[in-house]
Amino acid sequence: MGRILPFKAYKYRIYPTDVQMVFFAKTFGCCRLVWNKMLDEKQRAYKNKERIPRPTPAKYKKEYPFLKEVDSLALVSVQNYIEDAFRNHFKNRKHFKLPKFKKKKDKQSYTTYNVNNLIRVDFERSLLYLPKLREGVKIELHRRFEGRIKSVTVSRTSDGKYYASILVETENPRNKVVEPKSKACGIDLGLEHFATVTNDFGSYKVEHPKYLRRGEERLKRLQRSYSRKQKGSKNSEKARLRLAGQHAYITNARNDFLHKLSKAIIDENQVVVVEDINVKVLLKTRLAKSIADSGWSKFLSYLKYKAEWYGRTFIQVDRFFPSSKLCHRCGYKNDDLTLHDRTWCCPTCGETHDRDVNASINLYYVGLGRPEVKPVEQALVDDRSPYGLPKKPPCDEAGSSTTKG
Ligand SMILES: [Zn+2]
Repeated sequence: MGRILPFKAYKYRIYPTDVQMVFFAKTFGCCRLVWNKMLDEKQRAYKNKERIPRPTPAKYKKEYPFLKEVDSLALVSVQNYIEDAFRNHFKNRKHFKLPKFKKKKDKQSYTTYNVNNLIRVDFERSLLYLPKLREGVKIELHRRFEGRIKSVTVSRTSDGKYYASILVETENPRNKVVEPKSKACGIDLGLEHFATVTNDFGSYKVEHPKYLRRGEERLKRLQRSYSRKQKGSKNSEKARLRLAGQHAYITNARNDFLHKLSKAIIDENQVVVVEDINVKVLLKTRLAKSIADSGWSKFLSYLKYKAEWYGRTFIQVDRFFPSSKLCHRCGYKNDDLTLHDRTWCCPTCGETHDRDVNASINLYYVGLGRPEVKPVEQALVDDRSPYGLPKKPPCDEAGSSTTKG
């Protein structure tokens, strides 16, 4: 068994469509009906000093076949709530009164559980997926959360506003803050490698995960296969489902990779500096697709909010900072550097640079110059770096051309 984690509720406004409002109204009504039926049975037995029954929602489905139309887990939650209410009452009769019948004019709500991960939140598209609502409900996600969703309570206020309260299994991030081992870190994002990172211990490259590459190739094959099928045919529907499944797999796998990498970087460093990726998008428009695929902007947004959570500083340097063109050793600016130059030799100091490593070292120096940098307890020198420790930072204007992200 895993540890028991604390739960945290996040409440958001949701905007159901007319059809979804009807579905919610039905579900509220069915939950109320099941609650009142169960309560009635229990109360009668209680008054007659009989053994109190523990009915399940299935019992009422014959008499009220419309119960089958709503989310069955919502009905299960009614059963759980009423059992809890009775259990509490018998434990402490003064404090816990017997539950009451529900009326239509009471606040309307239902709770459903996350079984088989049917409940999901899409932070990019602002959608909440609930059982029986596969198309998703529009949700205003004013804040992020991380962790497994346990349950969701959908409610409607008397003035017709809808809310979803999402219960998330999460550790309080404040309890989990680790001391940074490195003062600063510079990250250069790339196409060949996902990222090149420099921190107090040196530089290293992070590869694009192989499973993502393979998954993306399969996705392309499925896309072609789907577009060849006759629209509306059975085979076309099958191909569409396979394609949708692969899309979901890729999205989850990529998010997982980006979460783990961003968390590791935030844990390790006090100040994290990245370049402005707009420059790259502008410069390499033909590569826009693969840039979008590589998940840069998602990665940066993860770094940004994790930095907030864990008390780190996240900085995006402005687009005019020449991270690739500056020699990190002597500060010489190589204006002739083209996009195709993977390595270059500094004419002033003679140092040969790997383009990405040099850029990440320059970004690292920007971080080192920040006032947020505190002394850290230096751990043993990391053995990851094939590029050696960065040399002493040059005294240039690097620190002044930053914007706080
Ligand atoms: Zn130089």
